[in-house]
Amino acid sequence: MDSLKQKYALSRKYAGFINISPIQTGAILPEEAERATKEFIVGYAPYNLAQGIEIMDIPVVRDFIENDLPGFLNADRVRITFGAREGIYIAMKTAAKPGSTVLVDENSHYTTFVAAEKAGLNVEIVKSSGYPEYAISTQDYEEAIRKHKPSAVLLTYPDGNYGNLPDPEPLAKLAHENSIPFILNCAYSMGRMPLDMKKLKPDFMVGSGHKSMASIGPIGIIAATEKWSEKMLKKSLHHKKSELEFMGSEIRGTPLISLMASFPYVYERVKKWPSEVEKARWFSRKMDMLGLVQLGEKPHNHDLMKFRTDPFYEISKLHHKKRAFLYEHLKSRGITGIQHGKTKAIKLSTYGISKDSLKKVLSAFEDIVDTY
Ligand SMILES: *Cc1c(COP(=O)(O)O)cnc(C)c1O
Repeated sequence: MDSLKQKYALSRKYAGFINISPIQTGAILPEEAERATKEFIVGYAPYNLAQGIEIMDIPVVRDFIENDLPGFLNADRVRITFGAREGIYIAMKTAAKPGSTVLVDENSHYTTFVAAEKAGLNVEIVKSSGYPEYAISTQDYEEAIRKHKPSAVLLTYPDGNYGNLPDPEPLAKLAHENSIPFILNCAYSMGRMPLDMKKLKPDFMVGSGHKSMASIGPIGIIAATEKWSEKMLKKSLHHKKSELEFMGSEIRGTPLISLMASFPYVYERVKKWPSEVEKARWFSRKMDMLGLVQLGEKPHNHDLMKFRTDPFYEISKLHHKKRAFLYEHLKSRGITGIQHGKTKAIKLSTYGISKDSLKKVLSAFEDIVDTY
């Protein structure tokens, strides 16, 4: 019993650490959301907000989904999902017939491929420019559209590997000229930077609460234009009130509470996006001086970055801790968030981290480079 207790105590040994993990920097809850989430931690607690049979009957939830979120994104319709991946799936299922083809960028997240498969779609790829920028040129979709005649196109904005932010506008234009629905995957942008659906002009936009909207998750968002709303929100034959794709109201508990409680904070923080980009570029330049070379677009347009870290790889060959040395060294400096055992290349994010903390990260890297 005690060993089980110990095993599942799941205590955090990293409280107070500087966290540079790309999948976490945009997910950290502000204090007010932490408090609200704690209060609602039992069962289907949102029902305690007001009496309601369905979650959407609760006034504050309805207002959030029907007014405040659409306003934030300048979108016609918004629904809550289990994550970006489910949003991608619902967008694909709504936009394309099984057996047809969806055209995606080479930097797409693995869940894009899984979603396509689940929706019964074939996948074709628009290649990136390869090493070192791995850039996606939306112009390249033109030839691929002619060749593959896709029934939907998807762009990852930005991707989760290099943090590249391709320009969606040419693709939106191309897609509309060819009457092909356009899905924009904003897992790493919705909630970090301002997004205006009427300006970017995708047919669908998906986001991830636990990646970029300061939520505990799992939770995501799908936004669609009015044109698709009837199809996307089709009702169940068996239960006339329930939206089929969303199985009634599937996200009910604390993930929704955390998303709502963080919303005012997220609403404000996206306005600071230019300074986040500036900080990421500054960090990239400092890393470059240490011989740690940023991959992906340069100058960079996002806080998620991948660095080629040849010096660390060379050290790992000689170090007694082998490939674990880098993670352990950072840990000893109160820094966490890089993948354990990686030394050839590392991924990190500077989002929401103060320059003082980032200087500590840089100096931890510098010490390794200097010492060995
Ligand atoms: C994490 C990620 C996803 C999946 O997001 P979930 O909300 O966890 O489903 C999709 N696309 C990209 C680019 C991601 O980084």
